[in-house]
Amino acid sequence: MNDRKALVRLLDELGRLPGIGPKSAQRIAYYLLECDTDQAQRLVDAIVQVKEQVHFCPICFNYATADECDICSSSHRDRTQICVVSEPRDVSAIEKTGAYNGLYHVLGGVISPMDRIGPDQLHIRELLTRLSDSDVREVIMALSPNVEGEATAVYLMRMLEPLGVKTTRLASGLPVGGDLEYADEVTLRRAIEARH
Ligand SMILES: [Zn+2]
Repeated sequence: MNDRKALVRLLDELGRLPGIGPKSAQRIAYYLLECDTDQAQRLVDAIVQVKEQVHFCPICFNYATADECDICSSSHRDRTQICVVSEPRDVSAIEKTGAYNGLYHVLGGVISPMDRIGPDQLHIRELLTRLSDSDVREVIMALSPNVEGEATAVYLMRMLEPLGVKTTRLASGLPVGGDLEYADEVTLRRAIEARH
């Protein structure tokens, strides 16, 4: 009976992962049961390592393994631009396009009254502090083109106006209502290059 319990527990944990339905959970669980112990251990180690070593960059709130993330600590990035995104995965999406070489600021979400997320729950204050003491001349709003993303961009632009920093937005062409991370590279690159 205990054997069954272990399997049920694994299925339960796998089922909590995003995008994994009961069928996929079952497929992965049986795969793990049948694979050799070394391989299962490597997966466990990778999960533990990522949890132990990866944290949020104290400057931009992207993921980092060192004190600061690779982008904030790089001497090759254009420090006059900050691209504001909602989640760390949006940074990877934009990095993949190769069309942007500035810095980032990850808000940690978007304003969403339905989910009780207001400006105070996001890293907006940190952005303002960053801007008050930097060479930044342009802030690019790269938020998903949905209602919450729009509301957040409008709020931020109002907050940034007194600071005299130029704010731009990604050009249209991104699928409306979609997530930035799902936009294809070409569309996203065009949206960055044609920002206004
Ligand atoms: Zn950083």
